[in-house]
Amino acid sequence: MILKENTAVLELKNLLTHKYKIVITTHMNPDGDALGSTLALSQALKKMGHEVYPVVPNEYPEFLQWLPGNDSVIDYYKNKEQANSIISTAEMIFFLDHNESKRGGDMNEALTASKALKIMIDHHPNPQMAVDYQISFTEASSTCELIFEFIAAIDGLTFMDKSIAECIYTGILTDTGCFSYNSSRTRTFEIAAHLLQYAIHKDEIYSRIYDNYSAQRMRLLGYCLNEKMVVLPDLNTAYMSITLEEQKRFDFATGDSEGFVNYPLSIKGISFTALFTERKDKVKISFRSRGSFPSNVFSERHFSGGGHLNAAGGESNLSLGETIQKFTELLSEYKTDLNS
Ligand code: 5GP
Ligand code: MN
Repeated sequence: MILKENTAVLELKNLLTHKYKIVITTHMNPDGDALGSTLALSQALKKMGHEVYPVVPNEYPEFLQWLPGNDSVIDYYKNKEQANSIISTAEMIFFLDHNESKRGGDMNEALTASKALKIMIDHHPNPQMAVDYQISFTEASSTCELIFEFIAAIDGLTFMDKSIAECIYTGILTDTGCFSYNSSRTRTFEIAAHLLQYAIHKDEIYSRIYDNYSAQRMRLLGYCLNEKMVVLPDLNTAYMSITLEEQKRFDFATGDSEGFVNYPLSIKGISFTALFTERKDKVKISFRSRGSFPSNVFSERHFSGGGHLNAAGGESNLSLGETIQKFTELLSEYKTDLNS
């Protein structure tokens, strides 16, 4: 979806010929696409002469902290006062990779109260956020891909540089599982090819993200696969869980369980997986599926979540044990869908 003829984009292109104070924000627990898109657009708009503040709801993993522009990020959770004052005086707010108010966490109140012009650029289904401009395309591999199209459509490609290209490449890489899913459109590869022209080191980017874990994280993964994985062949499902005690035991840091939920999908016959992570106040859940089983619909219906067809997340206020029990009971209702 090349955005050059999109009405919202054309209007924004005109507006952006004036200079604005702009906040760029994303969803809770930012991932590579969330942070990559936030930092790419921040840098591009800064170079176009705007005053830009990237604000994230809470902390993100260390393996993303090398991204160009990382030092400019304001963590709302840690700097509420500063962030509130910036948000309340911003003239424009971009919501990237983020289409559901509740995923803004504590920051939501300030964002809702703000009189700024609100713009969403996102690739998740079912946008649920009141904004002035909605640029929402589920066929995009990632929000980063859309940010590339957006920068191109507002005639910003002259401002593209290596740093911006690295941020965009990171989001495409992480949201497609290194080009293994959500990446069948030729346009995604055309954009990746274009990014390589800025002398980005794609293998080094891969390494910074995927070869950057602690030894304890690898031990936790081994432990989960060996001792915590439950395989239900009749339901084509496998799941794992991590308790608070286990997190303490393995020096758990933000992002350590990233990717865990994908492993059981490599088992022959498994097409639906879940990872339950106990938090102090709730249980956070990740779902993955292969084929037609809609993990986002399942999560939305039963675990107050959402996401994409094959990758979704949700949460539960029950205990970890009760949450898993609810999950396994639900699976039998979906047996026909899971078996197909
Ligand atoms: P992950 O399992 O990697 O945290 O998330 C997978 C996908 O589901 C991502 O696209 C993410 O945006 C979405 N997702 C994760 N948690 C939630 C949630 O609580 N609510 C909604 N609506 N989507 C979520
Ligand atoms: Mn994304």
